[in-house]
Amino acid sequence: MITEKPVCVTGASGFIASHIVAGLLADGYRVRGTTRKSREHYPFLLQLPGAEERLELVEADLLRKESFLPAFRECEYVIHTASPYVINVKDPAKDLVEPALQGTMGVMEAARSAGGVKRVVLTSSVAAVTDEPDSTKVFTERDWNTRSSLHRHPYHYSKTVAEKSAWEFVSRQKPGFDLVSINPSMVTGPALGPDINTTNAMIRDIMIGVYPGIMDLNWGFVDVRDTARAHILAMETSGASGRYLCSAGLLDMRTLVEQLSYSGYGNYPLPKTDLTGRFGTALMMALSYTQPRDTGTYIRTHIGRSLRYGCSKIKQELGMSFMPVMESILEGVEDMVRRGHLAPPRSRRVGPGKKEA
Ligand code: NDP
Repeated sequence: MITEKPVCVTGASGFIASHIVAGLLADGYRVRGTTRKSREHYPFLLQLPGAEERLELVEADLLRKESFLPAFRECEYVIHTASPYVINVKDPAKDLVEPALQGTMGVMEAARSAGGVKRVVLTSSVAAVTDEPDSTKVFTERDWNTRSSLHRHPYHYSKTVAEKSAWEFVSRQKPGFDLVSINPSMVTGPALGPDINTTNAMIRDIMIGVYPGIMDLNWGFVDVRDTARAHILAMETSGASGRYLCSAGLLDMRTLVEQLSYSGYGNYPLPKTDLTGRFGTALMMALSYTQPRDTGTYIRTHIGRSLRYGCSKIKQELGMSFMPVMESILEGVEDMVRRGHLAPPRSRRVGPGKKEA
């Protein structure tokens, strides 16, 4: 379905968005990416194969809704990924909810005003599905996070209100385009830009001794290139509709640490103390109150629970298949080493008082 008209990707500099831009260019599309700063700040985007001929970068900010209208002119497809992805912010309303919600509403209004938009693909998250695993349940697209607030998992809250208001906008305003959301779990894998993504930073933190021990935690993961492909398929598949959970599989902390150790990272200060039993879980529950607020809430709502996502819809309707979780994580780790976010495995010497690269 290559169209002559540009596909607009908001937040093109982001971890996921830059892979969407790369995927669209590789498929032959013209791409218009929105960024917060001017184009010379993004050499990694401008150097992508096909960028010279088919990538345009325009400035837009989620807090200036009028900034998106010029970006969407002539576009039939908008992929809206821009949204702050940070945990532990000072002011959840200002730092998370305002840009996520106002930005999404601004994008929806601009898409309507632009006239020719046929579909908006929204990057939501499993954070809009639940903020608390339930070991007895497999979560699906029918589930909505009803518990988060400004005080409890504000990032999850920002994703929930942003996605919900996008669906309400489409159902009430009948804007002439349809909406499809991709709801990924934790996205890993190599970055195209120089920054370290929040999920990869969590894996780095596990590798540099930030965690006191191996906790009874598990996460859903999905590779960044698969996540990008899911967005492009959601745009291209005419019958795509509704939400799509996007997760390759689950990994518990013990397996993650063991696999890192077997894969050549055994000389990093990986957590060793086993805190997965009843005593460890009780200890971590108590220690959670000494952590930054949002990390503490995360521990209390996730520890000791298993998390399962049903992803048959994305496989059946979009034809998605996923690369194995550990392969993606290891490629992400190699990339962090290459970019200096982590010291190389053999040369690293980290002791008390010494700083990790
Ligand atoms: P990044 O932090 O790499 O990308 C976020 C993007 O949003 C950046 O381009 C950033 O611009 C842009 N952005 C943030 N605030 C504003 C603003 N006020 N105005 C304009 N642009 C803004 O994160 P990811 O790529 O990981 O996340 C992208 C999307 O995917 C987010 O919506 C996130 O919630 C969602 N997601 C991510 C997951 C993950 O594990 N990575 C999992 C599930 C969902 P700038 O570069 O200028 O800061």
